[in-house]
Amino acid sequence: MTKTPRIAVLGAGYTGLTIAKLLARRTGAPVTLVNDRDRFVERMRNHQVAAGRTVRHQPLRDLVAGSGVRLVVDRVTGLDPAARRVDLAGGDPLAYDLLVYALGSHADLDAVPGAAEHAYTVAGIEQSERLRERMRTAESVAVIGAGPTGLETAAELAETHPGRTVRLITGGPLGRQLTEPGQDHLRRTLDRLGVQVQENTTVAKVDADGVLLADGRHLAVDAVAWTAGFRVADLAARAGLAVDAHGRLLVDGTLRSRSHPEVYGIGDAAAAHAEGGQVLRMGCGPGGLAGACAFHAITARLAGRDPKPLRLTTDTLCVSLGAWDGVLQPADLDGTPRGKPMTGRRVALIKKAVLRVTGRHNPRHPGISVLTARQG
Ligand SMILES: Cc1cc2nc3c(=O)[nH]c(=O)nc-3n(C[C@H](O)[C@H](O)[C@H](O)COP(=O)(O)OP(=O)(O)OC[C@H]3O[C@@H](n4cnc5c(N)ncnc54)[C@H](O)[C@@H]3O)c2cc1C
Repeated sequence: MTKTPRIAVLGAGYTGLTIAKLLARRTGAPVTLVNDRDRFVERMRNHQVAAGRTVRHQPLRDLVAGSGVRLVVDRVTGLDPAARRVDLAGGDPLAYDLLVYALGSHADLDAVPGAAEHAYTVAGIEQSERLRERMRTAESVAVIGAGPTGLETAAELAETHPGRTVRLITGGPLGRQLTEPGQDHLRRTLDRLGVQVQENTTVAKVDADGVLLADGRHLAVDAVAWTAGFRVADLAARAGLAVDAHGRLLVDGTLRSRSHPEVYGIGDAAAAHAEGGQVLRMGCGPGGLAGACAFHAITARLAGRDPKPLRLTTDTLCVSLGAWDGVLQPADLDGTPRGKPMTGRRVALIKKAVLRVTGRHNPRHPGISVLTARQG
């Protein structure tokens, strides 16, 4: 590879924006950042957007100003790793020597019939805004899926729309990702907020009037919010890059593609493994550490040094339950909860701080994420 490679970063979400700015500053190489919209979307606030809270998304142009990063607002439609080329929907193809793949994820709406046509989601900003509009008149909403996103969405909707019926439907028991004290707190909080929980209930179909359950019952609701699972774009798979069974870019411990050494993958779009072999979950926490590790690996290799692999042994879930409550649960990397969780107002304050750092401070001063990763 040339000493100052042309670097292309695809996706200006939490991980892509950060690494683009860090690489431009540290390497002095030309860095082009491609994103399909002109603002930085704080996805972790999408449930707040859906609930009608005001969230101001900063223009990407402001965030990259003076950083040396060239911003291209366009949609990536294809990759040609052999030619080292990125195809764009609107503009000329982009040539690169080094590529960072950080295209994030979207809602898995193919999971059951009717979801793509009738369900709302909070995975993307436009979908969250559509749900917000629907909630102006909807008397009832069913949130499907009780992972962290489903829990946050149900709690937030119930808190901001106290007169409405908010149901939370989960295929398994509630709070699988928490130890018992956390589960107890979760139940009490959802109960206080008036969320009606239906556990061990499988949704078979979504239609215009609600959901059809696997046991044949129909549950009538005005709106369905689908939060049961995320998936990734098929761009890497279509380009012949090594991917896992879900289409996530397969990367080694330094976040480098297992099939194409000039490609790195970070965030939701890449399947990074910890040293113990566990695949990192999609999430801003693991994604941020992976992004910092990729940055160190790229700069080390450019300087002719051997990079250190990602070191991560534990995880922490920080789930907000409305504006003033939440659960913070330490966990193993495979998601098994460990030990006593923190609950209540303290967690809400921690979550607000996390959102401020990831959404406000880090996009402007991305060195923060590198410091965090060194400690991690
Ligand atoms: C409501 C909600 C709450 C969440 N809460 C938490 C939480 O509390 N903790 C946590 O760890 N995680 C949370 N997550 C998950 C977290 O938001 C994601 O893991 C994180 O956004 C992944 O970062 P990323 O950089 O990989 O992708 P993203 O932040 O999604 O960025 C991807 C970027 O790529 C762009 N893009 C996509 N396709 C194309 C294309 N073809 N061409 C050009 N640009 C494209 C997108 O517009 C976007 O800007 C939450 C997610 C949601 C939806």
